Amino acid sequence: MADQAFWFAFEGDKLLVFDEGSVRVPLAGGPEELDLDVTFRWEIGDLDGHACWAVETDSEPPEGMVFRDLRSFFFGVDEDFFRMAGRAKQIVGWHATHRFCGRCGGPTEPVSGELAMRCTRCGMMHYPRLSPAAIVLVEKGDRILLARSPGFPKGLYSVLAGFVEPGESIEDTVAREIEEEVGIGVRNVTYFGSQPWPFPHSLMIGFTAEYEDGELSPDPDEIEDAGWYTTRNLPQLPPKTSIARAMIDDFVKRNEPDVTT
Ligand SMILES: [Zn+2]
Repeated sequence: MADQAFWFAFEGDKLLVFDEGSVRVPLAGGPEELDLDVTFRWEIGDLDGHACWAVETDSEPPEGMVFRDLRSFFFGVDEDFFRMAGRAKQIVGWHATHRFCGRCGGPTEPVSGELAMRCTRCGMMHYPRLSPAAIVLVEKGDRILLARSPGFPKGLYSVLAGFVEPGESIEDTVAREIEEEVGIGVRNVTYFGSQPWPFPHSLMIGFTAEYEDGELSPDPDEIEDAGWYTTRNLPQLPPKTSIARAMIDDFVKRNEPDVTT
């Protein structure tokens, strides 16, 4: 019998999971055991002692399973599972969007042993694309800057974020985004940590920064509302799985309200 592996099978942006309360992907010797037609597969790591595979399929879900949007798992799955599912989604999504060469339009083919597609006409190699973004928690004494984008769920506030532009250092991105989105200057930009973000293929690179100067003046195209919040009056925050929340929780920990007063 073949070793049992976890199959992270995607149909478009949707992951195959059991149709039940907790989120589980099938454990099987191969996708044929699940009656899945596989158009692409790639081994992506290990979870709980089992190999994990990213799979692209266009099959109907097997009995008892459904295809579900990865975003809907954001609450309530563990981080290792979410990261593996996100990795699978990015790889399958990359494969699905690189069937033809961006330079000459020729059909591409997979390169053996490498996560790459080669153009059969001009030879150009196509690799998975990553889009780095800076995400920044700005502190001003005992307050932090939180803001809402028009697309956020109702009532939710978070820290600011923006994509790195060609030719920028990540520090340039931090300064530009904060200036463009809310009109203030920052200093002491310090690395916090990073998180792969599979919607569709970002790497969120987190920083803390201190307020330096300027008045808050949100750009209405990007920011619906922005303000300074203490740990005592925080609005609705992003879920625990996100680096945004990890940064906010870290600030809260460092600024615990003095319970004796
Ligand atoms: Zn080409």
